[in-house]
Amino acid sequence: MINWAANDMCQNNHKLQWVKKHIQNCAQCGPVDTMCRYGCVQCNLYYCVKCRQPPVMGDICGGGHELKYVPTLKYHSCDVCRGSISGGAYRCQECDYDVCEKCWIVKED
Ligand SMILES: [Zn+2]
Ligand SMILES: [Zn+2]
Ligand SMILES: [Zn+2]
Ligand SMILES: [Zn+2]
Repeated sequence: MINWAANDMCQNNHKLQWVKKHIQNCAQCGPVDTMCRYGCVQCNLYYCVKCRQPPVMGDICGGGHELKYVPTLKYHSCDVCRGSISGGAYRCQECDYDVCEKCWIVKED
């Protein structure tokens, strides 16, 4: 199941914020070395992208910006799987948020 974080709360009931941060410790699963996209700045609690997955469906990033498909996005890594992107990806330039084609889920009507 996909753990949508959009309306999620931290342990102290603050709404999680859309951030970009490299974390060494996930508030839920412990020591990690990965990116965080959702966290509570007030409590200094940050969650890895596995525990609080960024949006991989639809066409907006967690910050509410439109994602654009870039056919050749080089020197970037996917914010979901952390794999390096060689082909196309969906990107929000403002947040520096990239989702590779493998992680992207096509929205079904
Ligand atoms: Zn985690
Ligand atoms: Zn909090
Ligand atoms: Zn990916
Ligand atoms: Zn954005």
